[in-house]
Amino acid sequence: MIEQLRKILGDPDRVIAGEDIEAKYLTDTLGRLKASADALVFALNTGEVSRVMRYAWENGIPVTPRGAGTNLVGSTVPLRGGIILDLSRMNHILEVDEETFTAVVEPGVVLQDFQAHVEAMGLMYPPDPGEKTATIGGNIATNAGGMRAVKYGVTRDFVRGLEAVLADGSVITSGSKNVKDASGLQLRQLFIGSEGTLGVITKCILRLVPKPETTLSVLVPFDSLESAIRSVHAIIKANANPTAIEFIERSVVELGERFTGVTFPCPDAKAYILLTFDGDQPQVHANAERIRAVAESCGAADYIPFTDPHEAAEIWKVRGCLVKAVEAVSEQEPVDLVVPINQTARYIEYVHQVEQETGMRMIAFGHAGDGNVHLCIIRGGRTDGQWKTELHEVMQRLYQKAYELGGLTSGEHGVGIAKQPYFFANTDGQLLSVMRAVKTALDPKRVLNDHISYLK
Ligand SMILES: Cc1cc2nc3c(=O)[nH]c(=O)nc-3n(C[C@H](O)[C@H](O)[C@H](O)COP(=O)(O)OP(=O)(O)OC[C@H]3O[C@@H](n4cnc5c(N)ncnc54)[C@H](O)[C@@H]3O)c2cc1C
Repeated sequence: MIEQLRKILGDPDRVIAGEDIEAKYLTDTLGRLKASADALVFALNTGEVSRVMRYAWENGIPVTPRGAGTNLVGSTVPLRGGIILDLSRMNHILEVDEETFTAVVEPGVVLQDFQAHVEAMGLMYPPDPGEKTATIGGNIATNAGGMRAVKYGVTRDFVRGLEAVLADGSVITSGSKNVKDASGLQLRQLFIGSEGTLGVITKCILRLVPKPETTLSVLVPFDSLESAIRSVHAIIKANANPTAIEFIERSVVELGERFTGVTFPCPDAKAYILLTFDGDQPQVHANAERIRAVAESCGAADYIPFTDPHEAAEIWKVRGCLVKAVEAVSEQEPVDLVVPINQTARYIEYVHQVEQETGMRMIAFGHAGDGNVHLCIIRGGRTDGQWKTELHEVMQRLYQKAYELGGLTSGEHGVGIAKQPYFFANTDGQLLSVMRAVKTALDPKRVLNDHISYLK
C-alpha cells in the first residue's frame, strides 16, 4: 500500500507508513480513543485526494479524512485502520471576492488565519467556534457552531458551495457564489455536518459579511445559574440583537481564572451571562443599554460593559479556555447536547439533581442563546472500572432527559464514536434508515469514516 500511495502522490515524504505515524494522528484532541492505521497521507490538491480515494475504493481500504484533529468525539480515530487522509496542507485562501462577499478556500485553511485575513480587508467570517486552530474543512464537516450563532447562525449558514471528492474518487461541486439557489438538490447541505462520512471536502465557497464597526462585551453576574439562564429569554425578546449570549457557572470561572490568571469581577456571583453586541457605535450602545434594563429587571447583581477591548479579550479568554482548564485538573467527558432554548434552565436544574444523587461532579457552561449546553463530567479519583460504569449511567440519564425536553445529541461537536450509543438509543429507526440509504448511495463500499458506525 505504501509504495502504491507514494507512486500516486509522486512524493515519498508525504506518505508515512503505519509504524512511523505520530500518535496525535491516531486520535482526536482528547487522546483517549486510539487506533492504528496503515498509512498517513498529506494531500496537496484535489487531484491527489481523488487519486487516493480511487485507489482506496478499488481496494476496499478504509479512509479517515482529517483536518486539525480538534474534534472531541473520536471522529478522527481510524478504528478500521487503512489511510488517514490529512488535508491540513491544502491551506490556501484562493480568493476573497469583495464584490460578492464570498471567499474560496482550501479545506485545510485554519479558522483563525482565515478570520484575520478577511478582517484585515474589512470583512468578517462570523462562525466562531471556541477552537480557532481547527480547519475550515473540519468546521464544515462538523457544522461547527460557536459563540456568534445567536445573531449570525452556524457554519452551515456561511457555506455557499463545496467541491467534494466522493468515495470512488469522482469530484463534484455543489453550490456557487450565488446568493440564491433553487437549482436542483442542494447536495452541499448533505456534506455539512456529515463528519467525513459522505465525501472529502476539497474546496469551500464561503459567505462573508461586512466587518462590524465595533464590538462590545458585557458581563452580567447573577445570584444563581437558574436566574441567569431565565434572563436569556427576556434578553432575546428585547430584540437588541446580541451576537453572543453565553452562560458560565462561578465554579467553572474559578477554574478558568486559575488557568489564565485573569480575574472576573463580582466573585460572589453564582453564575454569569456574557454578552456581546456588534454593529455601529450608536446602535451597539443603544442595544447594550436596552439589555441593562432587562437584566436588572431579571435580578442581575450588576451589569459590567467592557469598553476597553483588552479587558473584553481577557474575559473571553476565560470563556475560551474552559475545556482546557477543566482538563488541567481532571480527565473529563465533554457533553454538547442541545435543548429548546426555553428548556435550558430546567435542564441545568436536572443536571444538578443528577450531580447530587450520583456524586458525579459536572460543570456547566455553554451557548445560552441557542440552548447548546456544554457539560464537563469530571472523573476525579475514580478507577478505570468505576469511571466507565458510572459515566455511562450518568450519560444515559443526561441524554434521556434532554430528549424528553425535545433536545438532541449534539449541537456542534457531532456524534463521532463517543456519542454513538446515545444517538442510537434516541434516534428514530426510520430516520436512521434514510441516513443509511444516503450513505449507501454515496459510499456503498463504506470506505469513508466507517468507524462512525451509525450509518452501517
Ligand atoms: C478547546 C476546544 C473548544 C471547542 N469549541 C468548539 C465550539 O465552540 N464549537 C464547535 O462547533 N466545536 C468546538 N470544538 C470542536 C472542534 O474544534 C470542531 O469540531 C472543529 O470543527 C473540528 O475541526 P478540525 O479541523 O479539527 O477537524 P478534525 O477534528 O480533524 O475532523 C473532524 C471531523 O471532520 C472530518 N473532516 C475533517 N476535514 C474534512 C474534510 N476536508 N472533508 C471531509 N471531512 C473532514 C473528519 O473525518 C472528522 O470526522 C472545540 C474543540 C476544542 C478542543
